[in-house]
Parts: sequence; C-alpha cells; structure tokens
Amino acid sequence: MASRYVFLLAAALCVLSHFLPLRAAAATRRNVLVLHNFNQDHPAVAAYDQGLQEMLLSDARYDIRVSKEFLDLASFEQSPSYLPDTAAYLAMKYSLWKPDAIVMDNAVVPFYRRSLAESFRGVPLLVPVEADSEEARRPPPHMTEVAWGVTASDIEKNLQLILALLPATRTVYVVLGASAQERRIEARIAPVLAAYAGRLDTVLTTDMTHAAMLDTVAGTASDAAILYVRVARDVTGATFVPAAVLREVCRRAKVPVFGMGAHLLGDGMVGGYVDDVAKLGRFMGARILEALDGHLAGGGPLLRPDASAYVFDQRMLEHFGLDAARLPAGSRLVFRTASLWESHRGLVLGGTVLVAAEGCLILGLVANRMRRKRAEAALLTANATLERRVRERTSELRDSNRELQSAKEALETLNGQLEALSRTDSLTGLPNRRHAEEFAVACHRELQRHGAVYALAVLDIDFFKKVNDHHGHGAGDMLLRRLGADMAEMVRADDMVARWGGEEFLFVLPHADAASAGKMLERIRERIAAVAYVCRDVRLTVTVTAGVAEAVSGDEFDDVLRRADEALYRGKEEGRNRVVTV
Ligand code: GH3
Ligand code: MG
Ligand code: MG
Repeated sequence: MASRYVFLLAAALCVLSHFLPLRAAAATRRNVLVLHNFNQDHPAVAAYDQGLQEMLLSDARYDIRVSKEFLDLASFEQSPSYLPDTAAYLAMKYSLWKPDAIVMDNAVVPFYRRSLAESFRGVPLLVPVEADSEEARRPPPHMTEVAWGVTASDIEKNLQLILALLPATRTVYVVLGASAQERRIEARIAPVLAAYAGRLDTVLTTDMTHAAMLDTVAGTASDAAILYVRVARDVTGATFVPAAVLREVCRRAKVPVFGMGAHLLGDGMVGGYVDDVAKLGRFMGARILEALDGHLAGGGPLLRPDASAYVFDQRMLEHFGLDAARLPAGSRLVFRTASLWESHRGLVLGGTVLVAAEGCLILGLVANRMRRKRAEAALLTANATLERRVRERTSELRDSNRELQSAKEALETLNGQLEALSRTDSLTGLPNRRHAEEFAVACHRELQRHGAVYALAVLDIDFFKKVNDHHGHGAGDMLLRRLGADMAEMVRADDMVARWGGEEFLFVLPHADAASAGKMLERIRERIAAVAYVCRDVRLTVTVTAGVAEAVSGDEFDDVLRRADEALYRGKEEGRNRVVTV
C-alpha cells in the first residue's frame, strides 16, 4: 500500500519537473534600448513609454528588459563636450548590455548616426519621424521609420473643427514655437493657413517671445479661438516643456484652446484632432516585437500608424458651452462628468435596496404592531369580560352566601324556637314535663358527683274538676295560666316551676333542703289561698296541696319524685290546702 503512494508521488514530481523548466525556457531574454530626445518630465514621453512597454510586456514569449536614456539634446547643444561624452558613455554602457532593438526619437537620429551607429551595427532601429521630412524618404538599412508629428492635414482638421463648433469665430491664434522642428511644422502648415484667408484670420505666434505670446492669448477678442500646436523653444531661444506652455496658455486664455496631443488633455484644453502618443507607443512596441522575430528588416517604406483621433475634455466643452452634438462622428469624450446614476450606481442601487428593505421592515413592523394592537384590544376586551363575569359571579356568590347565611340564621332561630317550644308548655308558657325532667336529672347528677342537695315538690290544685264543671273549661285554663305565672314569680332564679300534667305542677329547687323547700311551698300555698283570680268575669278562689321531698345520697331521681308524690297524697288525704314535707 505504502509503495503505491511513493510511486504516485514520484510520478507527480516527474510531471512537474518536466513542465517547470519548459515554461522558464519559453521566455527569451531580449534588451530594448529607448533613446529619447526630451527629458522624462514631458507627459507625452511618459504616455509614449507606457504604451510601448505595455505592448512589449504583452508577449509572453520574450522576457524583455527596457533601458531608457533621456538625452535632452536641445538643452545641452551649446555644451561642446556633452555630445561626445554622452556618446562614449552610451557606447560603453551598451557594449555590456547589448540591445536587441533600439527605438529613438527623430531628433536623436543625427547624433546616433554620427556617434553610435558603429557600436550598434546590425541592431534594428525604429524611429518616429515627421511625416514629410527629408529623412523619412531615405531610411538606412536596419532602420524603420514611422510617420509622426503635426501635418498640414491635422491642422486643417482642427480649423474645420473650430468652425463647426464655433461658427462665429473670426480669428484663430495658432500657438507654435521657434525650434527647428517647430519651424518645419510652420513651413508645412503655412499653405493651409493661407487657404483659410478671407474665411478666417490666422495668427501664428512663431516669432513672438514667450511673454508676448502669453499676452496675445490673454487679450484675444471673444470671437477668437486658440489652436495650440507646440512650443519647445521661443524666438529668443528659451526652451520650454510644451505641456507646461499649454497649461499657461489655458490659464490665460478666455476663449477655448484646441490642441494636438491626447496626452495634453486634462489641463484646460478643449481637445481637438489629436495625436495619441500612447497609441504610437503601442504601435512602436508591436514593430519591435516584429523586429525581434526577424520580420522587420528595416530600410523599408514609411509606416503610418493610425494614432490620431478626435478627443475632447467634456468638462471644458461644458465650461465653454460647446455643443457636443456638433462634434465629428466618432469623437471620444474624456473626463466625462458622470451622472449621479453613473458615479453612484452602487450607492444608488444599494440605497434603493436598503430603502426597500427598510420599507419592507417598516411595513412588517407596522403590520405586526397592528396585529399586536388588535390582539391587545381583544385581550383587554376578554379581560374586561372575564373581570365582569368574575364580579357578577362573586356578587352572585356573595348574595347566595348572604341568603344562605340568613336562611341558616332563620333556620337556627326556628330551631331555637322549636327547641324552646319542645320544652315549653303551650298553655301556661312554663317549662313542660320533658324540660323539668332534664333539669331535675341534671340536678340529680350534681348531687351524685358533688353531693349538691336539691328538693322536689309536686303541687296539685284542690278540687279543680269543680272549676271546670261550674265555670267551664276555658275558665279552668285561664286559672291554670294565672296560677302558673304567679308561682313562677315566687321562686328563686335558679329554681324551676314546670307544668307536670293536668292541674299538677313540679318544683325543682337546686341547693334546697326539705325544710327550706317546704317553707317556700308553704308561702306559695298561702298566697294562692289568699288570692281571688278573676277568670271570665268570675272571681275564683282555690287552694293547693303540695308534697316536698329532699334528695338524699343514694337516691335515684324516681325515688325522690315518688316520695314527693307520696307526700302530696298524704296532704290530700289529710284534708288538702297544706304542704307535706318528707
Ligand atoms: P282533688 O282535690 O282530689 O285533687 O280533686 P280534683 O277534682 O282536683 O281531682 P280530679 O282528679 O278528680 O279531677 C281533676 C280534673 O282536672 C279533671 C279534669 O277535667 C281537670 N283537668 C285536667 N287537666 C285540665 C286542663 O288542662 N284544663 C281544665 N280546664 N281542666 C283540666
Ligand atoms: Mg290531680
Ligand atoms: Mg286536683
């Protein structure tokens, strides 16, 4: 198993080691030397170099190294040793770092021929040249010339453009310097300017000092326009960076400034039919690659790159109120002021999505809130209903309880009354026989437990039958009531007088012995005998006989009652109206 993995690893390493060296070997090292006339602070030079390098690096077959020299010949042409010393320096340096192709500005060509051609014999040369210069027509072997620079046709296209955009233009100031190259341009464009005479006044600044030129462009009439061509040197021999001069012109001028280099856009120039130096750089790069492949021998006809175009700075068009609709077909706008939508598309889209999301969220929240409110309202109603029902039920229960309580109380009262009735004699209102028995039994229990004495007395009305017989049963009843009431008043609070039955009464006398009980009964007998009771308009006088017995230890209740009864019978037998105590 392990040997299988080792085999697979070895195979993978083998495949990798096979491919890696192949890839490295594919890029062939090549050196390209660029000889610039101007210093590197020229925007045109930077744009040109960038285009060139872009093209060279785009070919993966070559590992191309680029070395640039900025000879600045114009600045040092007064110094006698500059050229030979520079030539010696370059010859020495590039004998060690041999170039496979050389690109050089047209202005460097005479210096190269004089001092360097020997050192780089056979190396392909590429040179952008002024299209209608003498050199352009006789390229030496190994040299390929590429047409470049301001032509009469370029000037004419710009003049037409100015008239199309600003039909009221009367004067065009053509800003051009006085260097040798600029003088050649002057010569080339002179016929074109002359051809416009009558339609347009054209003023060339070639013979003005730098200051005079600036004053001139600052003081133009409003029906003028400016066409900036190039100023590297003025009539006094002072040198300038053309791009810097254009900036100064744009700052001073109150009318639109048209120009001829795409790399100059952005500093206040409106635009125009311009050379695109970056495009020229790319064209030159492509030719170098051809030369490295051996497909560009040199000495051939002039090559013409398509590197001119109508390009405009939109901000400046707007600044001068120039109508973009009048621009030639295919015009390109740079520094376009993006619309709010273009510049903030992401922000606008994001914002819209955010606002929409927020809106949805808010709607959701509102819906939720409404649902909650409804639920709360329903809950409140339900609560209120519940509370009302609870209140009603509580009140009903309270009423029921109250009714129940009063029913209970009524029942208790009734029970009490019933109890009282069950223990009361209905005729006399005195305790009845049952009540008297209970009381007597309780007294007897006291006697048994604590030795507390009591006495019983049985009292009977004498010859009561006669009362009924003579005065009627009703009079008899009334007499029974009167006697009962009288007797109840005559006993102590603890004593009881009860109706025992018929016309008989029982006295239960707690804590009374036979003697005291006999005395009490004697008092009662005497009073009854002395009173005449008026019953149904009849005065009735009656007597009573009573038997008194004291309870003694060892008695049963019935024993005491029996003895009292026996005493009563004795009293009857002995003639009535008396109290017999045993
Ligand atoms: P004595 O002196 O021997 O006791 O004679 P008396 O007539 O009182 O006794 P008796 O036993 O012969 O008669 C008692 C009467 O009492 C008979 C009865 O009609 C009457 N009586 C009993 N209860 C009542 C009552 O509630 N009302 C009335 N009016 N008479 C009653
Ligand atoms: Mg009797
Ligand atoms: Mg009697």
